[in-house]
Amino acid sequence: MKFSTVTELSRLLAAREVSAVELAKDYLSRIEAHRDINCFLDVRPEETLKQAAEADKRIAEGTATRLTGIPIAHKDIFVTREWASTAASRMLEGYMSPFDATVVKKLRAAGLVTLGKLNCDEFAMGSANENSAYGKVLNPWDSNAVPGGSSGGSSACVAAGLAPIATATDTGGSIREPASFTGVTGLKPTYGRPSRLGMIAFASSLDTAGLMAHTAEDIAWVLGDMVGFEPWDSTSVDMPTEDFARDLNKGVRGMRIGVPRAWFSESLDPEVAAAIEKVIAEYRSQGAEIVDIALPNAELGVPVYYVVACAEASSNLSRFDGVRYGYRAKEYTDIQDMIKKSRNEGFGAEPKRRIMIGTYVLSHGYYDAYYLKAQKVRRLISQEFDAAFEKVDAIISPVTTGTAFDFGAKADPVSAYLGDLYTVPASLAGLPCMSMPCGIHSNGRPIGVQLTCARFAEAKMLGIAHAWQQASDWHTRHPNGF
Ligand code: GLN
Repeated sequence: MKFSTVTELSRLLAAREVSAVELAKDYLSRIEAHRDINCFLDVRPEETLKQAAEADKRIAEGTATRLTGIPIAHKDIFVTREWASTAASRMLEGYMSPFDATVVKKLRAAGLVTLGKLNCDEFAMGSANENSAYGKVLNPWDSNAVPGGSSGGSSACVAAGLAPIATATDTGGSIREPASFTGVTGLKPTYGRPSRLGMIAFASSLDTAGLMAHTAEDIAWVLGDMVGFEPWDSTSVDMPTEDFARDLNKGVRGMRIGVPRAWFSESLDPEVAAAIEKVIAEYRSQGAEIVDIALPNAELGVPVYYVVACAEASSNLSRFDGVRYGYRAKEYTDIQDMIKKSRNEGFGAEPKRRIMIGTYVLSHGYYDAYYLKAQKVRRLISQEFDAAFEKVDAIISPVTTGTAFDFGAKADPVSAYLGDLYTVPASLAGLPCMSMPCGIHSNGRPIGVQLTCARFAEAKMLGIAHAWQQASDWHTRHPNGF
């Protein structure tokens, strides 16, 4: 059962070959057996089994959806009523939310069963899951390697077969990079399509909920029950959800797929480049036309992203003042001292760094030079993508310059930030974007490839991904020992 896909499990549940309770117990015992990789921050078997029993009841009554009884784990950025919601920060240690995030609520309404909450970088800030206040997550492929971040708990848990599917969030690559580092498929939808209500905010104009699973097909099955209009969220797009599986078997014949050739520079690991060339060749052989494109402004993505994201983070994190939510220092002299100490003791180094950068770029005298300038370049990047999608159906590119790196290898924040060069452009433009497995490096670590499509073209993108996964078996490879 361990590496079963959502579609396989759905068939087993429908045929009554397994019950939701049996499935939940099976995954809970695997989670327990693999505690050492540290992907779960909160597991409450009694709550999971309660949901599983409800799912079995729905199945028996005939009111089940095709996803009722499928286990799922949630990144600890989504607030949940029954499990603590911490954003992997000391600031929110033990915090119990009075409500479920909209994404969690919708998935639950479809009957998916929550396995628990997943570790991540503190407030989703990072690329290696080394910034969690609750310890690092190990990459199931190699315990010296990072699982990627910030959704490292989500990627490691799917890669290790501890859940068939997991939610994650992507602000500048936090779904795609960890998916690529662990050999799973990860999708970030169009900004605004899944609701941000109940997602602990990092950078509000970028934060997007998404999914990680073994296959594009599984994501296509679940995405429809995760997205949809939320009237209490001003950034939620008011459009109906759709059948994201409708284009799965359309194939790529007649499509135009763009390759930003300048992204295949000498900084790209040659084995990663070669693996991506094979995907491109496969699409060509299936009848797609491959065209070179240029995205010169996208190369400015990293500085633009770190100005915008830090500015928004500094504003969002100002709510953690020791008064309204979260940690409060034990000893203080007056209210100023209380706020100062609470923030100093509650936040880790990376959120502090970003609050400082963000406060700086928003301050009088620097706002025009940094923040406003970044917003202008962001618009140019977005327009450049819009122009590209007049000519191509999808863009194929690397996700990162190499495979998962070793723990500690990017301890210097600037080197970590520069690693986001291929993922942040689509985030700045709010585009749907995904990573899927396309090889295993001679170092034994998985290789991913990135697909980007125009806004709201998730179904098309999933079809393109499925065409690759029908022709390859990298998504069926799993780490040893799990
Ligand atoms: N690595 C990026 C950062 O540190 C992206 C994080 C994210 O997408 N949440 O900001």
